[in-house]
Amino acid sequence: MHYTGTIIRPPSEADSILLQVTTGCSHNRCTFCGAYKDTPFSIRDDTTILEDILEARSFPVWQDKVFLCDGDAMILPQKKLIYILDMIRKHLPHITRAALYANAKSISRKSDKDLQELYQRGLKMVHLGLESGDDSTLASINKWGDSESIIRESKRIIDSGMQLFVTVLSGIAQKERSLIHAEKTGTALSRINPRFVGALTVMPVPGTVLYDQLRNGSFILLTPEEILLELKTMIACTDMSSGYFYANHASNYLPLRIKMPRGKQLALSQIEDALSGRTSLKPEFFRGL
Ligand code: SF4
Repeated sequence: MHYTGTIIRPPSEADSILLQVTTGCSHNRCTFCGAYKDTPFSIRDDTTILEDILEARSFPVWQDKVFLCDGDAMILPQKKLIYILDMIRKHLPHITRAALYANAKSISRKSDKDLQELYQRGLKMVHLGLESGDDSTLASINKWGDSESIIRESKRIIDSGMQLFVTVLSGIAQKERSLIHAEKTGTALSRINPRFVGALTVMPVPGTVLYDQLRNGSFILLTPEEILLELKTMIACTDMSSGYFYANHASNYLPLRIKMPRGKQLALSQIEDALSGRTSLKPEFFRGL
């Protein structure tokens, strides 16, 4: 396979064939993200992509999903994405679904008809970072778009038939806006009503703007207790009709896997137990990204 730079995929795509169709991220400005700092955005040529698809024919058949890398493959022109999905269906007929990362910017460039066409050609899952439902927080981290635009574009993905996995970031709003961030993020998630939510806890990475802000004192991390209080508020404000709210990423202090809506109350009491010291938290040295 032809890989350039660091290949990143969501945890749920661990068994997927990783097909790099772009390098980097066309936005590449989020302050917390160091994923593609050294990898300029580019679009892979058709020949290279086809060679990788043909090579994947020798992979085990239990690898029946494809993840299209890198950071926002939805930005590809519609004709190119259709070509890639068609080549996957032609040469890897056992593949049950393709997935990719998208953001509000790349989705906004597709019409509803485009999105439905992608779904019909096998794009079944989109991973999108909301990070926060609070516009002030989104502006402070240089996310593309405001909460309304991210909610709108997220809902268009769901309306097309695709499943949506939305990630949010605990601790990104610092102490002053922590609970506002939690409430507004819960409200945004309720309006989107995705199939999956993944809550991560911020860990500044060297080389990012956020890391520099941490070092110069303009960004201050929350304590584990403040993170838990924020997460508790976020979950309390999140009303999903079905699906899962995961907070079991390696960066989190208290692993939670919530089946919505019925598991919500149990999760809130588990956080309460941790806040009152009845449950111990993950030690700092076990956390990671
Ligand atoms: S849109 Fe995603 S990949 Fe691109 S800089 Fe932001 S977090 Fe990183």
